[in-house]
Amino acid sequence: MSDYIVESKSRKELRRLARVLRKHLGLENELWIPIVELLDVLAEVFSDFSYEIVGDNELPNGTHAETDIRTGHIKIKESVYLRACNGEGRDRMTIAHEIGHYFTLCFCGFSLQRNFKRQEVKPFNDPEWQAKCFAGEFMVAHHLTGDMSVSEIVEACGVSIDAADYQHNHRG
Ligand SMILES: [Zn+2]
Repeated sequence: MSDYIVESKSRKELRRLARVLRKHLGLENELWIPIVELLDVLAEVFSDFSYEIVGDNELPNGTHAETDIRTGHIKIKESVYLRACNGEGRDRMTIAHEIGHYFTLCFCGFSLQRNFKRQEVKPFNDPEWQAKCFAGEFMVAHHLTGDMSVSEIVEACGVSIDAADYQHNHRG
């Protein structure tokens, strides 16, 4: 089993998870995910999901936000939250990333783990890789952006150029 096959399979699983969640939230065909508003929706829909906005000095330098994977509690720096409210792609993705931690580890960690046990390749057991992959697939819907250029994805999905480029290169 090559790395490539394992990777594309795992990405496909997370892509499917992202789509199931979009569907569940009535966002299946929305190009632009209202990620800030979604925090409140998720807190209502999932009883163990919670978040708070914290002062910038309450999290270490270089940490934009963090998720406690045992409780599902997300802390977001105020500056990140405010920029996300203003539509800044990088900060919107930071929030999606933390939501990704919640869904890959808290909500469906068990079923993913069971699938991953069949293979020994490490990166896909990495929660950071999983959260990043989920966030990209969630913010840039594979089934809606197949014909789009990088700049069209940036505009339509409200993500950074880097994120759009990454999704563009991993949509196979
Ligand atoms: Zn992370």
